[in-house]
Amino acid sequence: MIEALYYEKRNINVQCQLCPHHCLIAPGKVGLCQVRRNENNTLFTLNYGRVSSVNLDPIEKKPLYHFYPGSSILSIGTLGCNLSCSFCQNWSISQLPRDHIDTYFAKTTDNAAPADIVHTAEKMKAKGNIGVAYTYNEPSVWFEFVLETARLVKSKGMKNILVTNGFIESEPLAQLLPYIDAVNLDIKSINDKFYKKLCGARLKPVLEYAKTVKGKCLLEVTNLLVTGENDSEEDIQKLIDFVAHELGKDTPLHFSRYHPDFQFDAPATPAEVLELAYNLASKKLDYVYVGNIWNNPWDRTLCPSCKKVVIDRAGFAIRSIRLKDGNKCEYCGAEVAVVC
Ligand code: SF4
Repeated sequence: MIEALYYEKRNINVQCQLCPHHCLIAPGKVGLCQVRRNENNTLFTLNYGRVSSVNLDPIEKKPLYHFYPGSSILSIGTLGCNLSCSFCQNWSISQLPRDHIDTYFAKTTDNAAPADIVHTAEKMKAKGNIGVAYTYNEPSVWFEFVLETARLVKSKGMKNILVTNGFIESEPLAQLLPYIDAVNLDIKSINDKFYKKLCGARLKPVLEYAKTVKGKCLLEVTNLLVTGENDSEEDIQKLIDFVAHELGKDTPLHFSRYHPDFQFDAPATPAEVLELAYNLASKKLDYVYVGNIWNNPWDRTLCPSCKKVVIDRAGFAIRSIRLKDGNKCEYCGAEVAVVC
C-alpha cells in the first residue's frame, strides 16, 4: 500500500479528492471505489501495482480507430471502479467483494512496478506495440500507479492511452494529461438520471472531462446503448449534438452493443437501434462506428470529403488503409483525422 495523492484529513476521517464523489472515509473503511482505505488518518491506495489483466491488444479493441490504426498496445488493468454500473460488461474486475479485499487482491492480481510495465512494453515493440493502455477497469482508481507508469512510458518515447469513464477531478486530470496521447471516453448516457440510477454517479463531470481533453490529446467517445435505458432516439440525438457542438464533428463516436451482464438481463441492443444511431450520427459527425457486433458495415472509416472508404476493418483487424502523406485521403487528398 502506498499513500494516496489527493485527499484531506478531517479529524479522524479522510476525504478523498480524486474523483467527484469526494468520499468521506472513516478509520479502517474504504471509499466507494473500494480501493482507497483510511488507515490511521492516512489514505492509502490498495491497488498500486496490482495488475489483474495484461494483454497485447489490437488498438482497435480499446476502441481507438484514429490512433495508429493496425498497431498493438500493451493493455493493463487492476481492480475497482468509482462507478457501479448495474450493466457493467467488466464487472468481475470492476466490482469487488465488500469483505476480505486484501485477500481478494492477493488471489486475483500480480504485483508489478511501473518499470516492469515499461520493460514489457519495450519488449513488445517487436510485435507492433506502441505503448501502454490503462483499460479493462477504470484507470483513475489506480491513479498513482498510472501517473508514474505513464511518465516512464513517455520518457521512453512510447504512447499512453486511457480508456475511461471520465469521472475524475480536474486537478488530478491536469496532472496526468500531459503524459496521455489518446483517450477513449465512455459517455454512458447524455441523461443525468441514467448516471444516478444505474451508475451511482453524475453526468456533468464526464462532459467537463470530454471538453477538457478535446484538443489536448486524441479523443474518441464510446456510448454503450443499453436496451430500454439510454437508447431512445431523443437521448441518442442529444448525445450526438453534444459531441458535434462541444467536441467537434471530427470526434469519432462509437456506439457499442450491450449484452446482458452483471445485474442486467434486458436483451442485447437490437441491430435496428444501432443502425438508427449510426444514421443519425452520420448526419452530424464525420466518423461514426458501431462496435461489439461482428460483420457489421459500420466499422469503416470514410473520407469526410469524398466518402470513400479510407480504412477498412474486419473485426479488430485492418483490411486496408488508403491514406497517403500521413493522413490524406488517397482518392481526393482531403485530410482525415487519423494519427498514423
Ligand atoms: S477515488 Fe474512490 S475513494 Fe476517492 S472519491 Fe472517488 S470513489 Fe471515493
